[in-house]
Amino acid sequence: MKPLTIALSKGRIFKETLPLLKAAGIELLEDPEKSRKLVFETTRADVNIIIIRATDVPPYVQYGAADIGVAGKDVLMEHGAEGIYEPLDLRIAQCKLMVAALKDAPEVDGRVRVATKFVNITRRYYASQGRQADVIKLYGAMELAPLVGLADRIVDIVDTGNTLRANGLEPTELICEISSRLIVNRASMKTRQKEIGEILRAIEAAVDANQEQALLATE
Ligand code: AMP
Repeated sequence: MKPLTIALSKGRIFKETLPLLKAAGIELLEDPEKSRKLVFETTRADVNIIIIRATDVPPYVQYGAADIGVAGKDVLMEHGAEGIYEPLDLRIAQCKLMVAALKDAPEVDGRVRVATKFVNITRRYYASQGRQADVIKLYGAMELAPLVGLADRIVDIVDTGNTLRANGLEPTELICEISSRLIVNRASMKTRQKEIGEILRAIEAAVDANQEQALLATE
């Protein structure tokens, strides 16, 4: 049988997912940071890891090119995640999706101009509130848009809020809390139930252990 394929993206998700995979006996045989390869073998001959862009993880899993993936809730909501199982909240890479504005910016009467890379989420959010919005798609540096008069508001990911503050912005509305999720292809969930079930249970136990540790640390 072909190896089970797990799709990850580089950066924060990758670093925080590795210890969880280790709990399922899955470790990379080489360091992807030092390689131009995209497919990596692991300590388990039956499991490969592919490293792709964060926004590409949902389509890879949706179409079965990867059986399992790890993606932020922001990426899943923006993609739509149709036909993808989302069995586990990994509680890693936690942050918030927020609306932000220049500090002390006035309310906007009528149509608000919003710059974001999350155009689908933003359209849905404003529609759900019955507010009129013109959504401008940007690919980065959203914080600049209100400073130069491109937009009244931005919708972006906020962790500490330092990036907003450094640019004279402040969060105004919480759209939703974000964390990374384990996702599974629908067909794989049925055809490879045993292998995937075992991996899911091992990762879930590791997530629970992390939570307990975090609770103890705050006591
Ligand atoms: P901060 O300055 O700590 O509020 O971080 C905000 C920036 O960090 C955002 O513009 C995001 O691009 C990035 N960021 C923070 N947390 C995450 C996350 N969990 N996933 C993706 N990007 C994040």
